Amino acid sequence: LTVGVVKESKPGETRVALVPKLVERLVRRGLSIVVEPGAGAAAALPDELFEQAGARIGDAWDADAVLKVAPPTSAEVGKLGAGKILIGFLSPLSNVDGLGELADAGVTAFAVESIPRISRAQAMDALSSQSSVAGYRAVLLAAQRLPRFFPMLTTAAGTVPPAKVLVLGAGVAGLQALATAKRLGAQPTGYDVRPEVAEQVRSVGAQWLDLGIEAVGEGGYARELSEEERAEQQRRLTEATTGFDAVITTALVPGRKAPTLVTAEAVRGMRPGSVIVDMAGEAGGNCELTEPGEDIVAENVTICSPLNLPAEMPAHASELYARNLTELLELFVDSEGRLSLDFSDEIVAGACVAGGEEKAD
Ligand code: NAD
Repeated sequence: LTVGVVKESKPGETRVALVPKLVERLVRRGLSIVVEPGAGAAAALPDELFEQAGARIGDAWDADAVLKVAPPTSAEVGKLGAGKILIGFLSPLSNVDGLGELADAGVTAFAVESIPRISRAQAMDALSSQSSVAGYRAVLLAAQRLPRFFPMLTTAAGTVPPAKVLVLGAGVAGLQALATAKRLGAQPTGYDVRPEVAEQVRSVGAQWLDLGIEAVGEGGYARELSEEERAEQQRRLTEATTGFDAVITTALVPGRKAPTLVTAEAVRGMRPGSVIVDMAGEAGGNCELTEPGEDIVAENVTICSPLNLPAEMPAHASELYARNLTELLELFVDSEGRLSLDFSDEIVAGACVAGGEEKAD
């Protein structure tokens, strides 16, 4: 199987879908790798490193299977053509037209978001690997924007108390944010509607905020709250957020608009200079005043809504993503590196979001 690694075209996308270290591993598995010139440049991975690892620099769109980070544009789908395989983030729940385009073009497409979150697929879980990077970066952003210290300092000029950081939503990104805030010397507190994460929050050295509202949904995710629950949650959170220097929000419900957890009233109740980093901007945001993709100051509080935090740390984000894709690709080939898609495998079937039907039997 020939695998193509293309240069991302989305503005601000600095990641690349494969890194030299994993090129070596795939070449050993019998795969040929073609890398588009400059594909890794923005992730500090020049073409020479890919060549040294055994890849060829050339027309990567010509390969049997193309690896990407962001969903392809229509022009890029045109470059793929019938019979090709595409693997990448394809936003399957919101990008119905894009998936239709891929299916019409005869492409067999695998969305990393659709890989079932089962133990066997953990090493392929790109949502988790990129959420970890995002959670870490969100805290660095909060620390940078806060006009106060994160750690406690005892100096000749006085003592500074540690910053109080509240993380709303304690999934993969939230737990990494809590752990990072702790490492930077802040006092982190975590909150979620899934009570089973309380122990995980405590295990990274954070306090657990219990508001008495539980909303466990399907497959380990949260469910959407009822209107009364939502109003009650907002009321209790408005009380709770006063006194925190930084609030990082990560709450998502798959396929839905992000829940509003921080109301305008809650922002008004925060100390001037406090910071909110809203990681749910793409799904509408968790803060009522968030402007997705923008950094604003409202009610003397800085509200940041970065939309692609992993792209701010492209070297490691690419490396982790490349490992996810390598594990998935290895499932797609036989011992000699020939394509051997087994649609009776729940990972292969689950990840396939376009095409693939004719290969099912
Ligand atoms: P996510 O990104 O979908 O959501 C982030 C967090 O927001 C979740 O913890 C969710 O409970 C929380 N949330 C949603 N609505 C909320 C509300 N109204 N108020 C407060 N919090 C709210 O979640 P995720 O990080 O992708 O993880 C979701 C689940 O998937 C977790 O149970 C995680 O352990 C599980 N998971 C499993 C695997 C695996 O087995 N391979 C891998 C990763 C994650």
